[in-house]
Amino acid sequence: MNTPTPHSHQAEDLAEAAPGPDTVTVARWLIARGMYVFTVDHPALPDCVGAHRPGAPCDGDRGKHPVGRWSQRATRNAAAIVRDLARGPRNLGIACKPSGLLVIDEDRPGAFTDYAAALGRQVPATFVVTTAKGRHFYFAQPTDGQLGNSPGALPDGIDVRGAAGQGGYVVAPGSLHRTGIRYTPVDSSAPVLPAPAWLIDALRVRSGPQTARQRPTPQPAPLTDGGRPFRVLCALVNTVLSATTGDRNNRLYWAACRMYEHADRGLFDPAAARAALTDAAHHIGLGEAETEHTLDSARAMTAHGGAA
Ligand SMILES: [Zn+2]
Repeated sequence: MNTPTPHSHQAEDLAEAAPGPDTVTVARWLIARGMYVFTVDHPALPDCVGAHRPGAPCDGDRGKHPVGRWSQRATRNAAAIVRDLARGPRNLGIACKPSGLLVIDEDRPGAFTDYAAALGRQVPATFVVTTAKGRHFYFAQPTDGQLGNSPGALPDGIDVRGAAGQGGYVVAPGSLHRTGIRYTPVDSSAPVLPAPAWLIDALRVRSGPQTARQRPTPQPAPLTDGGRPFRVLCALVNTVLSATTGDRNNRLYWAACRMYEHADRGLFDPAAARAALTDAAHHIGLGEAETEHTLDSARAMTAHGGAA
């Protein structure tokens, strides 16, 4: 299992990564294409400059965390983003909702095109960006009702960022991944095409209760609503709930380690807290055995001896 590291140890390597286009130029280019942008942590900085809630510190996934409240800061005002970029090296994020975008995120090259082929379809020649693990396919939202972040009938390994609620965001082309790989357009002159009907249909399939990304209400009996233990646990539960398909297990493991550390210090009852994390893990589609295994590993890692 990959355990997340709290800090990037690759800052030195990143200094040698191939130089990318000037970030200000990229930001202007994205804005000219109708996209709402905001600044994001840059993996070459010593510490994450992303905004993190109290009780939910950085998970170490450097280069992806928005600098402020991204849904409010996302802008098409070039002067505003140039000001933000003057503070130091930053990656860029694109807010899907105001930009009218639906972005398909595959975590291995070919996952999305293979899926389309299995349906007897072709992915339209839309704007595509290569990422560290796969590709981002950019589509225009359907005009008859916007789609959100729910993967619908898409298989594991293919995620979507869309417009329901505050919507989702993607790390923009030109940004640097912590591995040193740069998010790069396949063809920067390609248009953003409308999402094809077969994709819209797949996304409108309602997920079952296993994968519906609803927010469960944690109800650990011994925790006093509104007190610090409750807030800490809510933050850990939210860390799990906001996982994408590819990092569910890492997120759960990280949250469980923090939970057992807090439990060891007597902040809350580990059995009740474990039940809340188990509930969250099931909500994001992790199976029972996998969830138990991850929680047990976290307990062993934090050397918590009590039964939970
Ligand atoms: Zn961070």
